Amino acid sequence: MLYIEEVLNIMGGVPKQRKTKSRRNQRRMHIWARAPVLAKCPKCGKPVFPHTVCPNCGYYKGVEVIDVLKKLTKKERKKREKEMKAKEKRESLKKEKPLTWEELSKK
Ligand SMILES: [Zn+2]
Repeated sequence: MLYIEEVLNIMGGVPKQRKTKSRRNQRRMHIWARAPVLAKCPKCGKPVFPHTVCPNCGYYKGVEVIDVLKKLTKKERKKREKEMKAKEKRESLKKEKPLTWEELSKK
């Protein structure tokens, strides 16, 4: 008949000594939840996981992969379309206004 210690010895390593709280806590010192690394979507500017399709606009590498509007209800779709249009308008306004050399020299 086997004793429990012998069984454990056969199965694998058995701790010889109890680890103190200090030892245990030192071991676990490096275990903590890290904040996720997020990139910025170049299309809509929302934070997204890198190498992932943007869940907000459905774009990846400048190509529309998912039709985001398909899943929404009619009301939500209208709202989203409005937001996207407003965003595009703002961006186009930004792009139209690079200062010329004359304007820069005036400033
Ligand atoms: Zn996006």
